[in-house]
Amino acid sequence: MTEMDAVDVAALGRWLDEFARLVGEHKQHLIQLDSAIGDADHGTNMDRGMSAVIAALDGAELPDVGALFKKVATTMISAVGGASGPLYGTFFLRMATAAGPVDSLDGPAFAKALRAGLDGVVARGKAEAGDKTMYDALAPAVDALDDALGAGKPLTEALSDAADAAARGRDATKDLVARKGRASYLGERSVGHQDPGATSAALLISATSALTSTSTKG
Ligand code: ADP
Ligand code: MG
Repeated sequence: MTEMDAVDVAALGRWLDEFARLVGEHKQHLIQLDSAIGDADHGTNMDRGMSAVIAALDGAELPDVGALFKKVATTMISAVGGASGPLYGTFFLRMATAAGPVDSLDGPAFAKALRAGLDGVVARGKAEAGDKTMYDALAPAVDALDDALGAGKPLTEALSDAADAAARGRDATKDLVARKGRASYLGERSVGHQDPGATSAALLISATSALTSTSTKG
């Protein structure tokens, strides 16, 4: 663990900026995935939510990491009507509580906060592994992050492992029968389609590359 492996409020803000950017870039794809097994609004929901988050963070008083995540959570919940709003909102609310009023998180503390967020998604949506939801991308990512940090890998590398695990989990949702959310109404007919929420969740984890990048916004 090096000093560089701690992420402060500014770095976490870069993560959220990058997630918002990726959601915007993949908006049509998320819409397309949700049109196959849902109601075609996941791309719109996530883009509206993350645009609102970026607007809310701009100029906000954010004294610590907990305050940052709490602002993200309340904004997602109020801006997004679909299932994904309360689920992502709960994710960030639990991250806020786990992080607390601190200036920065080291690798294990960030992993612990992500784990708390994942537990929040489960508490809220009752999804289990293999139900074809965002859980199926998030859970392997959090496990991979824990494993990599436990093996002594630097945070950048550990986050890259987590992103790979999230992508594999996302891809594997294609073969699953949906058991939660709107897609579950389709039963067996949901097989063959990648889950939209697992797809946005993989973007969330992929965006963590911005946490340890040294580039700064002008
Ligand atoms: P809605 O289903 O209300 O239209 P979205 O389209 O924005 O909301 O989000 C759909 C995604 O939400 C799904 O692809 C799935 O990943 C996720 N989801 C739905 N229900 C649950 C649940 N109970 N637990 C975890 N994730 C869920
Ligand atoms: Mg939908």
